[in-house]
Amino acid sequence: MKAQKTRVRFAPSPTGLLHVGNARTALYNWLFARHTGGEFLLRIEDTDLDRSEVKHEAQLMEDLRWLGLEWDEGPGVPGPHAPYRQSERLGIYREHTERLLREGKAYRCFCTAEELEAERARAVAAHRPQVYSGKCRGIDREESAKRAALGEAFAVRLRIPEHALRFHDIVRGEVEFASETVSDPILVRSSGVPVYNYVVTVDDALMEITHVIRGDDHLSNTPKQVAIYEAFGWKVPEFAHLSTILGSDRERLSKRHGATSIASFREMGILPEALVNYLALLGWGAEGGTRETFTEDELTKEFKLERVTASPAVFDWAKLHWLNRHYMKSAEIARLAELAWPYFEKAGLLAGQDAADQKVAAWLEALLAVFLPSLDQLDQLPAKAEFVFRMDVAAAKADPENAAVLGTEIAGKVLAAFAARVSAAAPGAVTAEQFKAWMNEIKTETGAKGKDLFHPVRIALTGAHSGPEFDKLIPMIEAGSVLEMPVYVESVRERVERFVRE
Ligand code: GLU
Repeated sequence: MKAQKTRVRFAPSPTGLLHVGNARTALYNWLFARHTGGEFLLRIEDTDLDRSEVKHEAQLMEDLRWLGLEWDEGPGVPGPHAPYRQSERLGIYREHTERLLREGKAYRCFCTAEELEAERARAVAAHRPQVYSGKCRGIDREESAKRAALGEAFAVRLRIPEHALRFHDIVRGEVEFASETVSDPILVRSSGVPVYNYVVTVDDALMEITHVIRGDDHLSNTPKQVAIYEAFGWKVPEFAHLSTILGSDRERLSKRHGATSIASFREMGILPEALVNYLALLGWGAEGGTRETFTEDELTKEFKLERVTASPAVFDWAKLHWLNRHYMKSAEIARLAELAWPYFEKAGLLAGQDAADQKVAAWLEALLAVFLPSLDQLDQLPAKAEFVFRMDVAAAKADPENAAVLGTEIAGKVLAAFAARVSAAAPGAVTAEQFKAWMNEIKTETGAKGKDLFHPVRIALTGAHSGPEFDKLIPMIEAGSVLEMPVYVESVRERVERFVRE
């Protein structure tokens, strides 16, 4: 017999930005589909009309695409199970509700909000579980239809079976809920709006979803959904409930822990491949190993739901940065330069510059190569590179650590010897070789070596006693000084002369 094709879905509610937790859910669904040769669907759960917004839906799809998680069916990708927005499927839910009522699997509940509240208060007082008493369960079908026809408001409730509700969870094993703890859940509110548990089940069944992979905040909803599958006589899918993601303080990851939306990672200059790799490791690890870097292809090959852990994952910035550095190192420099451009523009450093200017673009690549080893994320670039464009000599001299270096006699000698040499150089003329030769001469001339030799020169050129390697820095500065850019880049000579002068 041919095995059934796996079909999974990511079903976000467009009520806000896509965050780490949901993005990991989307990724695991996508990886599972790719690994098993199945299909990945996107369904928009927008039945909460007050909170759902089209702009969130658009942003969500953009974020998924940025992560490389394209869907096989869903908004914008027509398929046999369209429409893929729940707000466009209300007729389907209505037909299914009629069927359940007709078959006696569901019933109309005429209890008012006040009655339900009073019932709840009595349960609290008697230390009983706060579940619906089943008061309207016994109303006979004719009377129920008559009251509805006369305009009395009603909700539709599912008749929960007597037996325990069971399902298989790939992460947690066999899960069972006693039916009394579930009681008769509402499927359709008296306002006519169907509830999440109901529509999600109807959609998952009609869309032939074989594996429901989602956050464990939905674990307690699952028995209700299982009861709905049973009421329709549908096959219950496999489930995989993913553990919660915690912040470093072991509290549930939230805004308090800083930016966690996918859009904000992108704005910071985290590469999508780094984020995908990072998200994959939040609750999953490859077989038999401690390996941590995986390309998308490798993840697709290695990803197994059975290796997803039930214990909570802890979000770790250091690891995300480590991965980002790893991927920045191997990324095409032209791509990084293109990504870096807007940060410079925003910082006013390349503002007004034509992005298509080939010479400037090439120089930006050289600049990026200088600073890349010190970056965790691309948005740190303007601050690190600011001295290239404008160096505050007074501030550099006032810095206590710099002052300690510059205050020595040997520093004075080194700087004077360096200044004497660069003063003859034309803009753009100092090469890395020339610089090295000068430093060797100055070493012999002054007797300075190591820090004594290099720190004063570095402070004069960059404003700080530590920073990027001179080999790349010197030619980059010189190349920048001969370009016409709105923010002028001083040559090595101009820098040193100003430093000595001011
Ligand atoms: N719309 C639900 C959510 O965003 C989907 C839950 C599910 O996957 O069943 O939490």
